[in-house]
Amino acid sequence: MDFKDYHLKEGLLKALELLEYTKPTKVQEAVLPSILEGKDIIVKSQTGSGKTAAFAIPICEKINWEENKVQALVLTPTRELAMQVGEDFFNIGRFERMKIVSLYGKAPFHIQQKALKQKTHIVVGTPGRVLDHLKRGSLEATGINMLVIDETDEMLRMGFIKQVEEIIAFLPEEKQTLLFSATIAPDIEELCSKYMAHPKMIEIKNQKLTADKVCEACYEVGEKEKLQVFMDLMVVERPESCMIFANTKEQVENVYEMLKAHHYPVQRLHGGMEQKDRFAIMSDFRKGRFRYLVATDVAARGIDIDHITHVVNIDVPENKENYVHRIGRTGRGGRSGKSMLLVTEREKFFLKEIENYIGHMIPMCEKPKHEEVAAHQEDFTAKMETPMENVTLKGEKLSQDILKLHINAGKKTKMRPVDIVGTLCNLKGMSAADIGIINIQDISTFVEILNNKGESVYEQLQKTPIKGRLRKVSKVDINR
Ligand code: AMP
Repeated sequence: MDFKDYHLKEGLLKALELLEYTKPTKVQEAVLPSILEGKDIIVKSQTGSGKTAAFAIPICEKINWEENKVQALVLTPTRELAMQVGEDFFNIGRFERMKIVSLYGKAPFHIQQKALKQKTHIVVGTPGRVLDHLKRGSLEATGINMLVIDETDEMLRMGFIKQVEEIIAFLPEEKQTLLFSATIAPDIEELCSKYMAHPKMIEIKNQKLTADKVCEACYEVGEKEKLQVFMDLMVVERPESCMIFANTKEQVENVYEMLKAHHYPVQRLHGGMEQKDRFAIMSDFRKGRFRYLVATDVAARGIDIDHITHVVNIDVPENKENYVHRIGRTGRGGRSGKSMLLVTEREKFFLKEIENYIGHMIPMCEKPKHEEVAAHQEDFTAKMETPMENVTLKGEKLSQDILKLHINAGKKTKMRPVDIVGTLCNLKGMSAADIGIINIQDISTFVEILNNKGESVYEQLQKTPIKGRLRKVSKVDINR
């Protein structure tokens, strides 16, 4: 199959091409037609299978751009995932001018409220904050005809079931429900039978629970030598980019402090941190601004960064499924990766559980020898001091022909999308198809100019009035 076979809108095909999604993945092939037909579906599929695009593409296809109400709601268990799924939608729907708002806790409510006041087609969010917006009336539910519950097993494990049910009660009866989960336990079946209409079950079978491209290794360590063995392994391995998982935020802080003291380019991420710091760290890690990220399982699910070469479990996860999610952070985007697990006597029980679950033994390896570490120390130090090579971000190619402009006028001066469109369409060489997303704020307006016409528009707007007056127009760095 080819994406063209689904008769998708031009703008979607263009975005998929620029994202280098040349062919649909297995899950996309299995799921796309059913979603396009309007069926309720339950999809059992693993992380990294391309499942976000499997629902994002058909949802963008089905959205009616003219309609001013939110039409699709996507629920995710973590804020990072809400942000990432929102970005995937933004990339896929960019040339169709899809407006997406991400809603999550620990971020200012009023800013989200303002965003929702503008034309919004798709909302992606965590259950608590979505429910808040529904209750306070800032998220209008009457137009929502597509609901996605993503990573449902994790959502229920985190205790979100009550909120998910409360959210469903706000939504119109008549809607399409799509449920994605890595495992389908009885509680999920119950949720499905309660809220879905004759759902079609789609299972994407993987031969192995862990990706083939990830090479796994296990090291037996004493409790007190864990960190030393970890650092020795890093000297020997010299990862390009590494995620280190610990079971508690206290342990994350310990490991982080220690690595910092050893001059590692390191950051950390856990649920006890401010949301804006969590996002900033995730964003910097994605851009390759530091090599090592120590995290709890908040970062284990779905986080999609191509260049992670190593995952280290400094603690054995107590939840066997989390092992699969953690190591799935590497070996992405067609690359290979390495996963290492440090196990103490006390943790052997969990290791057994994991091995039963994944269906194979994790090879037990010898700890690096002193001489081996010493032999690589110099190379390791040199690598630590070298910044990472430039990392290309997923949406970057998409932005190549787009220039975002800032216009110094907004709602307070009664600027409306029609004023912007009217002016732009009258410029030399411009048509409506060259105008991307328009975002009008209180005293500012942002507009994306597509198809390489940005520079010319920018020049012309220096001398062309908008709504009767010459406005200050400047360029915005999209990849900031
Ligand atoms: P997900 O399972 O949604 O986390 O996606 C895993 C990765 O696959 C992401 O990096 C996507 O950008 C990528 N991806 C999704 N669909 C395709 C496709 N058709 N071709 C190539 N890569 C894809």
